[in-house]
Amino acid sequence: MSAIRQDDPEQQILDTIEAFVQRDVAPHVHALEKADTYPQAIVDRMKELGLFGATIAADYGGLGLPCTTYAKIVERIARCWMSVTGIFNSHLIMSAAVQRAGTEAQKRAFLPRFASGELRGGLALTEPDCGTDLQAIRCVARREGDDYVINGTKTWISNGIYGSCFALLVKTDPAAEPRHRGMSLFIAEKGPGFTVSRKLEKLGYKGIDSAELVFNDYRIPANRLIGGVEGQGLKHALGGLELGRINVAARGVGIAQAALDESVRYAQLRKTFGQPIAQHQAIQLKLADMATRTEAARLLVNRAAEFYDRGERCDMEAGMAKLFATEAAMENAAEAMRVHGGYGYSTEFPVERLYRDAPLLVIGEGTNELQRIIIARQLVARNPA
Ligand SMILES: Cc1cc2nc3c(=O)[nH]c(=O)nc-3n(C[C@H](O)[C@H](O)[C@H](O)COP(=O)(O)OP(=O)(O)OC[C@H]3O[C@@H](n4cnc5c(N)ncnc54)[C@H](O)[C@@H]3O)c2cc1C
Repeated sequence: MSAIRQDDPEQQILDTIEAFVQRDVAPHVHALEKADTYPQAIVDRMKELGLFGATIAADYGGLGLPCTTYAKIVERIARCWMSVTGIFNSHLIMSAAVQRAGTEAQKRAFLPRFASGELRGGLALTEPDCGTDLQAIRCVARREGDDYVINGTKTWISNGIYGSCFALLVKTDPAAEPRHRGMSLFIAEKGPGFTVSRKLEKLGYKGIDSAELVFNDYRIPANRLIGGVEGQGLKHALGGLELGRINVAARGVGIAQAALDESVRYAQLRKTFGQPIAQHQAIQLKLADMATRTEAARLLVNRAAEFYDRGERCDMEAGMAKLFATEAAMENAAEAMRVHGGYGYSTEFPVERLYRDAPLLVIGEGTNELQRIIIARQLVARNPA
């Protein structure tokens, strides 16, 4: 199986992903997930395929894939094991922030290394006391000559243990009003003063490392401030999140489809009262609703990705896709468990994993409550009375 090339037709790329999933992921999911083991061999294969540069522009060593193709890749991988998508998604959000807002020197210095997977990481926004209200962060960067000195704690950081570089949101002016004017985003590589304090244990989303990061007089050169200007950090971080939300929405489609696939299969095999349960109308109604939700979610994701590819503002479209697709994942996972009866509750079937993985999607990249607020604000802003 060769690396993905930028000019490969979409179907060829998806065929390569299909082969990767079948050969390198599917046979190992059960054991790795149950042991909560970091999937190093899968990560190595993702590097070879070029997935760490999927949405990074070709000029900077990436594949430069359109978001529409990227979303299909994410859906297919999440349909097999959602954790794998987390390994390259938050990495690509960090990359998107540098690509959109970084100086040319920063792009040249970092994007090729992000694309090759030599430097991998993610986004460090959340703190123990705040996630949704990001303007309340307390992590502080103080200017000292040509450096900044950073102190604070970040939590729930995906790729925090095995990753080496993070887009780090801090306050450069804690007294600023409005608060976002005092926020800045840095490209922070691990080094003295930047430590992992603990691995966080989770309900699902096993295998991928979620960690608490501590910054204790961590010194970073001033030229790592993304864009080179203080006070733009929240904007840069939220800009990257549009891609992140489309990714999470695509993961939702993957989970919803997996729950449907398992249910359609099982409903034909399991018999009660002399016939497959697929012949009972109560089960048919569930399958029909699950399939319809999945298809609708997929269309919303594709629409948001098209907006993103055209460079149009798409926080409302990405928010709608994220909201609908992740709720579809939750509903389908719960319905799949009902269709499977007692076997749905067994750790031997994939359904219980889908049921544990799905809830993260309604929390991550902005909770679904926040998505509703974003959608409503945009509705009003785009339709003045
Ligand atoms: C497995 C996992 C991986 C993660 N990975 C990362 C990562 O890589 N990087 C990173 O920075 N973060 C990461 N996060 C953190 C995640 O982004 C936050 O958990 C999320 O943004 C919610 O923040 P919070 O947990 O502080 O909840 P809170 O902000 O405390 O919210 C609690 C509840 O209040 C609701 N709420 C809050 N404000 C409002 C409002 N104004 N109106 C209505 N309802 C509101 C929320 O919707 C939620 O229901 C991860 C989290 C998990 C669980």
